[in-house]
Order: sequence, then C-alpha cells, then structure tokens
Amino acid sequence: MPAGLVRNLVTGGAGFLGSHLVDRLMQSGEEVLCLDNYFTGRKANIAHWIGHPRFELIRHDVTEPIKLEVDRIWHLACPASPIHYQTNPVKTAKTSFLGTYNMLGLARRVGARLLLASTSEVYGDPEIHPQPESYRGCVNTIGPRACYDEGKRIAETLCFDYRRMHGSEIRIARIFNTYGPRMLADDGRVVSNFIVQALRGEPLTLYGDGSQSRSFCYVDDLIEGLIRLMNADHTGPINLGNPSEFTIRQLAEQVRARINPELALISEPLPADDPRQRKPAIALAQRDLAWTPTVALEQGLEPTISWFRELLA
Ligand code: NAD
Ligand code: UDP
Repeated sequence: MPAGLVRNLVTGGAGFLGSHLVDRLMQSGEEVLCLDNYFTGRKANIAHWIGHPRFELIRHDVTEPIKLEVDRIWHLACPASPIHYQTNPVKTAKTSFLGTYNMLGLARRVGARLLLASTSEVYGDPEIHPQPESYRGCVNTIGPRACYDEGKRIAETLCFDYRRMHGSEIRIARIFNTYGPRMLADDGRVVSNFIVQALRGEPLTLYGDGSQSRSFCYVDDLIEGLIRLMNADHTGPINLGNPSEFTIRQLAEQVRARINPELALISEPLPADDPRQRKPAIALAQRDLAWTPTVALEQGLEPTISWFRELLA
C-alpha cells in the first residue's frame, strides 16, 4: 500500500450497500471514487459527499473498461433485487461477468486489492441448512434467477483464476439478505415491500404461503463485515449475514405489528426457483474476521421504517 491516503473505488457506490460503504470510508478519512451507472442507484444516496475534496463521482458502466489509479476496489456494481436483475437478464449476466473481468483487469494493472460482493444466491435453493462456504450450491442454470446466480458464480471463478494466474489480491464476500435505509421503495425485495405496503395501508403480499425462510442482516453490520474482510489476510469466500432465521410470514407479522396491526396478509404466486430456506453459517467470519452481527431484526426494522416513513411523506 503506498504512503498517503488510501484511494478506494466503490463500484455501485450510489446503490443501497455501496452508499453506506462510501459513508464509512469517507468517515475514516480515506479517498473515495464512487462509480455507478444509476440503474438502481441514486445520486441522492451520496449527494452529501459531492464537493468534498476526498470524494469523486464517476458515471460509468462496469461492462466497459476504465483506467483509474486506486489502491482498493470494492466491486458492488450489479442490481440485487430479483425484479431489477430480471428486467434485462442478459445485461445482468454481462454486468457480473464483464464488470468483474474489467475490474480485475484494472486491479491487476494498478496492483489494487479487489473485494467482490458475491451472494448467498451462489447456493441456489440449498439442500443443506444452514449454508457453510464449503457447500457448492444447487442453482438452476436455466431459470429466471440464473442470470444473477450464475453471474455471481462466474464472477467468483474469475477472481480465483486471476489470483492463480496473476497473483491478484482478491476478497470474496457472500452476502446474505441485507436491509436498511436507502433501499428503493419499488425495489421488490421483501423488507422494503412489506414496509412500504404497510405504510401505505395496503395488504402485505406473501409469495406462496410465506413458510420460506430468510435471515436478515442490518446494513451497518454488513458494512462492518466488508471492511473487516478487505483488511484481513483472507481471500474468502466468506459468508456475511445474520444467522437469525425467520419465515417470510413471521417477517410480515413483525412489520405489520409495528406499523398497522389491522392490515391483511394476502397470498400471491411464489416466483420460480424461489429458495425454500436460507441461513448463513458464519463460523468462518466469527473466527477469521472476529465479526458477528449485533443488530437484531426488531432493532434494525426501527430505523428502516423511519427512513421509509420520511421518504413516502
Ligand atoms: P443496489 O441495486 O442498490 O446497488 C447496485 C448498484 O450498482 C446500483 O447503484 C446500480 O446503479 C449499480 N449498477 C448496476 N449495474 C451497473 C453497471 N453495469 N455499471 C455500473 N453500476 C451498476 O443493490 P445492493 O443491495 O446495494 O447490492 C450491492 C451489491 O451487493 C450487489 O453486487 C449485490 O449483488 C450484492 N448483494 C446484496 C445483497 C443485499 O441483500 N443487499 C445480498 C447479496 C449480494
Ligand atoms: N417475498 C414475499 N413478498 C414480497 C417480496 C418477496 O413473500 O412482497 C418473498 C420472496 O418470494 C422470497 C423472500 O420473500 O421468498 C425474499 O425475497 P427477496 O426478493 O427479498 O430476496 P431473495 O429471494 O433474493 O432472497
């Protein structure tokens, strides 16, 4: 690492997770180049840093190469919500493959360390529970989620091949469902959907019977995990997520109880290939990053609901 300020490139920096990461890096006194094509990101998420001498904003699509001088690349650019990544699945696959390829090329050229925001979706609809990093997954290669799931799997592969061929310094985080302020109101993900529906006085939409499970991590915990992984002597892949598991019906009941207990829960068709269950095994992150999530769902829902309340007002 050269002397002086650390120069960070955050791809997808105007998105939900990216903008929280930008906040943390700026607050630590580092330099940040925030790169985004604004597909699902918003300038409003990082507007408070525009004009700061350590901050720069670049409108760019990661499927195209770019030359920059940086020390660390946090590669988050990729739509994360099923409705967004399925809007143009070919573009999603290109973003994962070409985007990661371009960022690995940049990292190699300038000797930067690259962290890939991978996903629990590499485990697909898992047959083992909870999911450890050693599990190789059960992904339908031809289903509607494949553009994202397989995209992230090849992105992980590229990282390891760059490491083997060129000695690139890589870090792979497998992120499990994360929520918090700055998710989009029309994002389609379950936490934002339920909160927005409840605040609008609409019924909460359970896909299927709501018995499928997920484990929800508050954004601050997740960002802490990413930073620890980037700084650690550990390539990963490493799971980052909150192991407290809830059915989707339990989540709906929690959100409804906080906003309006009178609201109905209605059933809608279960999307194809929707994973039945998901829960991270986090022993590796606990041991090697000394990381464990600290924010319980009931605590994290509070600031998230407040944020959406203000947004919708
Ligand atoms: P998000 O959609 O809010 O952020 C993605 C950002 O990437 C957006 O700002 C978007 O405009 C940008 N982007 C998309 N395609 C791009 C392209 N071709 N070029 C440049 N920018 C592009 O999603 P998020 O929840 O913040 O997710 C960030 C990363 O974390 C993604 O890679 C996602 O796969 C991963 N992840 C997130 C979760 C989660 O629960 N939030 C879970 C697993 C993995
Ligand atoms: N889901 C739901 N109602 C909604 C949105 C999502 O029941 O309004 C379900 C969805 O079918 C899935 C779970 O909630 O089983 C999590 O969905 P999300 O899109 O948030 O994340 P992912 O499926 O990628 O984990």
